[in-house]
This record gives sequence, C-alpha cells and structure tokens, in this order.
Amino acid sequence: MNSMNSADAVDADFDIGVIGGGPAGATVAAYLAKAGLSVAVFERDTFPREHVGESLVPATTPVLVETGCIDKVEQAGFPKKYGAAWTSAESREIDRMGFRNLTNGFRSAEVLFAERDQTGVDRDYTFHVDRGLFDQILLKNAESLGASVFQGVAVGAVDFSSTSPVMNVRLGRRQVPIKVRMVVDASGRRTHLGNQLKIKVTDPVFNQYAVHAWFEGLDRTALAVNKEQADFIFIHFLPVADTWVWQIPITDTVTSVGVVSQRDRLRAYDGDREKFFWDTIASRPELLDVLKNTKQVRPLKAEGDYSYGMKQIIGDRHLLIGDAARFVDPIFSSGVSVALNSARLAARDIIAAAEAGDFGRHRFTTYEAKLRRAMRNWYEFISIYYRLNILFTAFVQDDRYRVDVLKMLQGDVYDDEPKVLAAMREIVKVVEDDPGHLWRPYLGTLRTPATAPGF
Ligand SMILES: Cc1cc2nc3c(=O)[nH]c(=O)nc-3n(C[C@H](O)[C@H](O)[C@H](O)COP(=O)(O)OP(=O)(O)OC[C@H]3O[C@@H](n4cnc5c(N)ncnc54)[C@H](O)[C@@H]3O)c2cc1C
Repeated sequence: MNSMNSADAVDADFDIGVIGGGPAGATVAAYLAKAGLSVAVFERDTFPREHVGESLVPATTPVLVETGCIDKVEQAGFPKKYGAAWTSAESREIDRMGFRNLTNGFRSAEVLFAERDQTGVDRDYTFHVDRGLFDQILLKNAESLGASVFQGVAVGAVDFSSTSPVMNVRLGRRQVPIKVRMVVDASGRRTHLGNQLKIKVTDPVFNQYAVHAWFEGLDRTALAVNKEQADFIFIHFLPVADTWVWQIPITDTVTSVGVVSQRDRLRAYDGDREKFFWDTIASRPELLDVLKNTKQVRPLKAEGDYSYGMKQIIGDRHLLIGDAARFVDPIFSSGVSVALNSARLAARDIIAAAEAGDFGRHRFTTYEAKLRRAMRNWYEFISIYYRLNILFTAFVQDDRYRVDVLKMLQGDVYDDEPKVLAAMREIVKVVEDDPGHLWRPYLGTLRTPATAPGF
C-alpha cells in the first residue's frame, strides 16, 4: 500500500490520512494520490451535503486545472462569476468626497476579473457554486485519482505517541485504529487537531455571525448599476455597524443571500435568527423590497464562532490546511481559494517529505511560510475594510490602486504583499490620528491588533 521507501512506512495502513473531505481535504488527497502516495480521506458526512461558502475567486482556477477538476466544474453548469460589486445606500456626504454619484440613489463600485492578468489563470471568470455539488465533484475526483475515500466516517482522537500516528475512526459503534505515516487535518471549522492539541486562538476582534438561505426568483438586477453585471457577487453595505449582506447566484433562478453581523447584535433578538435576518435586511428598504418578492427555498441557517488562528499549523507528522488552519471573515470570498491553495502548497512539502522518508516538522516550513503570508494579507485587507470601508470603495475607484485591489480580490496573495495594503495602512493611520479628518466619522469600531492572532 505504501509506495514510497521509508523505514517507518513498513506497517502503516496508508501513507497519509486526511481528516475531512471538503475542498481542502479532497484537493490535498488529489495531489498526493497523483504523486503515487496512498491516501485515505475520512469524511464524517455523506456527500452531497450543504455547505456555506459559495462564491469562488480566480485563484482557485490553477488548482482546479492541476488536479483535473476544471472540466467537471465547467460541465456542472455553475453560474460564471466575472466580477464583484458593492452597493450602499446613498450618502450625500460620501458623494461630496468624490465618489461616483449614481442616479439610482445607490453608491456602487464594481471590478471585473478581466481587468488584471493573473499567473496560471486561463479564463476571465470563476464560479459561484452549490457547495453540495462542487464538494462532491472534488471528492470524487480525488477518488478517481486513487485516494481511498470513506464517507460517513468520523475521525476521533489521533494518537501521536508512536512513530506512526494512529487515527481512531468511528465505524458505527466501533473505533477502528488506522495507522498512517502522517495526518493532514482538513476538518474545516470543526478544527479537529486544533482542538485536540489545544492550539486554537480565537480572534479577539472578529466575532461575526451569519444567517443565510436560498431564495428563488430574486431580481438580481434590482440593485445592480450595470444590469449586465447582475450575476456578479454583490456585497450590499448596510447602515448598521460592521454589517453586510451577500448576494450570490446559485442557479439561473436561485440566489444565496446571507447577513453577516457582529454576534453581539444577536443578543438583542434573543437568538431569534428569523427576526435578526429580516430586521437587518430591512435597514436597506430597497433590498427588503426585492427579497420580499421571492420564495425562500431553504431554511435560514446560522454560522457562528468564526475567525481564529492556530499557534502552529505544522508539526511532526501532521499539518493543518484550509479552515482547519485558519479562518478569516468571508467578506472577500477567500475561503475556498485558501482551502485549495493551502492544499496545493502543503502537498508539495508532503511529497518531498515522503521522498526523503522524513515527515518531521522542518519538512513543512515552506508551506507554513507561504500560508502565513497569504493569511496575513487577507487578514489585513479585511481589517482595513472593517476599520474604514469607504477607503476600500475609494481605492477600487482610484486608477492608482484599482489593479492592486483587484490582485487581492482575485486571491493572488501567496507570493508577496500587494502594495495597496501599505497605502491603505498609511491612510487609516492618518485618519485615526486626525480628529478633524473628513473620513473620521466613517471609522468603524473594530480595531485589530498590529499582529494577527495565532498568525
Ligand atoms: C458565513 C460564511 C460565508 C462564507 N462565504 C464564502 C464565500 O463566499 N466564498 C468562499 O470561498 N468561502 C466562503 N466561506 C468560507 C468557506 O466556507 C470555507 O473556507 C471552506 O468551506 C473551507 O473548506 P475546507 O475544506 O477547509 O473545510 P470544509 O468545507 O468545512 O470541509 C471540512 C470537512 O471536514 C469534515 N469533518 C470535520 N470534522 C471531521 C472529523 N472529525 N472526521 C471526519 N470528517 C470531519 C466536515 O464534515 C467537512 O465536510 C464562508 C464561510 C462562512 C462561515
């Protein structure tokens, strides 16, 4: 079963055991199986299963191409995503500062992915996906490349006390020990190893809460300034602190709509997510009008307790990828691209480790450095957005910065720090230090520490 030479490989059931078969787990398994390693993926659910996180960014494309999934994703007929748009209610004060003054009463900014070439990305769109179908395509693809996939099988504690880690997997009522040479944790926001090893660090600032559902028949052009861009992802800013709404096409007629806000606000609703959702939407009456004329086709679902880091993402004979390693606010649709790219980067180090017959921590430092850099970029971009979101729309509309903002929005964050971050950092500081600054009233309440927690 073990295809690579190593003394410690002798009695292992598999080279690599992966916890979780979401986009991160399926992708790492695909790369490793392609390289000839024996891989087992244990997924507690049975696919297809529903999952939040439906809008991709172009940085997913090279990974989908390399793992051989792209044609299957194209054939699935998911809506193509050519760009992103942001809307907010009209504000004369903001308009006076030189923002585009729109005749329809909204403020709006849009970007098209085609405006910037991206290495390894061979098309000017990405996708909005039904995650039930998308995740199933990726997992089946890993299986077709040779990975052993076990669905409906949850991983319990992993025993790292001997040279070969032992994954205790639950088969019905039985616990079955599976011996592997190395474990990859791709368990998503359940953070399986993060909890077991007590290395999880909750973000001190971002404690958002999301409530979302699917709606049939939403008029996606209603708040679109350019009606041809109605199939973009829309982020609607609300006149409620640190709160926004996503609008993501799922099919020609079904749209995913989600409200993201600070968890504290939910207290005022006594946990009533239905009222929380509709009241929050009602703060943009034009959005409420559009949504009222639809049929809700999935019950409202809540996602809480997110935004965290890990004190370590690599260790002897294990590493963490995707949401299991880090979660940041989803405002810029970064999650699936991080899942796929962390899997890609981790796989490179794992394959080299297997060739060397050594799965020690020091083998995974390239992966760690690249992922930490990318996540620092995302975290800072998101923090600046929450601190001064009019700066974000101003930069999108400023020719000096637009392409660099687009680089972030494409998910092109692994090799360097996009220059725009330094410029944004500087302006935020100027506004923070000057009580009379014109933008001062727009400073948000969320202020992140200089160093991202756990990263
Ligand atoms: C409100 C919200 C909105 C979001 N919007 C977007 C968006 O628009 N675009 C985007 O790209 N991302 C978005 N995300 C993020 C996105 O959902 C995640 O980043 C992405 O799903 C991460 O993939 P993953 O494979 O790491 O984890 P997951 O997709 O969560 O997969 C982990 C898998 O592990 C399995 N598992 C867990 N524990 C065990 C165990 N013990 N044994 C076996 N299996 C186990 C789970 O069943 C699951 O299938 C959003 C997230 C939230 C919370």
